[in-house]
Amino acid sequence: MADIIIVGAGPAGLSAAIYARRANMDTVVYEGESYGGQIINTPEIENYPAIAKISGFEWATNLYNHATGLGAKVEFDRVTAIEGSAEELFTVKLESGMEDTAKAVILAVGASNRHLGIDREEELTGKGISYCATCDGAFYKGKTVAVSGGGNTAVEDAIYLAGLADKVYLIHRRNEFRAEETLVKAAREMPNIEFVTPYVVTELKGEPKLASVILTNREDGSTKELEISGLFVAIGQEPKTADFKDLVALSGGYIEAGEDCRTNVKGIFAAGDGRTKKVRQLTTACSDGAVAALAAIDFIKLG
Ligand code: NAP
Repeated sequence: MADIIIVGAGPAGLSAAIYARRANMDTVVYEGESYGGQIINTPEIENYPAIAKISGFEWATNLYNHATGLGAKVEFDRVTAIEGSAEELFTVKLESGMEDTAKAVILAVGASNRHLGIDREEELTGKGISYCATCDGAFYKGKTVAVSGGGNTAVEDAIYLAGLADKVYLIHRRNEFRAEETLVKAAREMPNIEFVTPYVVTELKGEPKLASVILTNREDGSTKELEISGLFVAIGQEPKTADFKDLVALSGGYIEAGEDCRTNVKGIFAAGDGRTKKVRQLTTACSDGAVAALAAIDFIKLG
């Protein structure tokens, strides 16, 4: 039995583990994929206070080493269900068939990449379609690629890919970008990035690999074809909360919890991108981890 079980080894979950361990709580983190969450795929982090520049991989690895160095156990097994209540213990069921129990649970489940939702997207994933520029960008050295999206991820990906590919199209459904102004300016200044707005990708062509995309103009409905070898989809995330929809209250798929990270169930807390919040940044995920862990510790000690 653990004092605190944390679901998810991303920035929020591992930050919570650091705070829980520093209060000497027996802490187990369960993770269904790899540690680090989405930030591990970010080429460069330039907005984490006191670290001017660091790769997502290095930052996430430092965080993992920090948490485990303090004694947090990280188990790579997916949590499939949670039962129990604050009055008894919480029982955490795992994909491996094992179970674990804890006095308090922190859901730091994060989010996964949103898909375009068009024909052949799954079939061509890994054959020209990617959701991770840092993972797959090197396959497109000297080629022509496109990025779909208008947020920080898409613009950062376009800049990163422009250093590898000959040409990068940045396809976005609006003329205005959600991404930070400085990033958009940096992308506009790169000679091999071409902005393609206001367009959405409506068709994927090529056999057996992606060879071109059909784009539809969102204002006049006209279409055009771009010949590309790779399409990087960076259109945001969906919270990974499906397994917990009968456990805690959700809102728009996100776990309902305020800045105190308390859910509607006593003893269960939510931290990071998977909870209802306005700002989903690395700093706010870490901050949530601290708040949720301290709230869980209070709950264990004071009830
Ligand atoms: P995001 O900010 O949610 O942006 C998603 C983008 O995809 C938006 O431009 C959106 O268009 C577009 N989009 C959504 N659904 C679409 C669809 N079906 N078809 C075409 N386009 C679609 O996602 P993100 O860029 O992954 O960023 C997620 C969070 O992480 C944000 O808070 C971001 O600031 C943060 N982040 C921060 C950094 C950093 O600080 N260095 C780096 C990466 C991410 P609209 O704009 O029209 O809605």
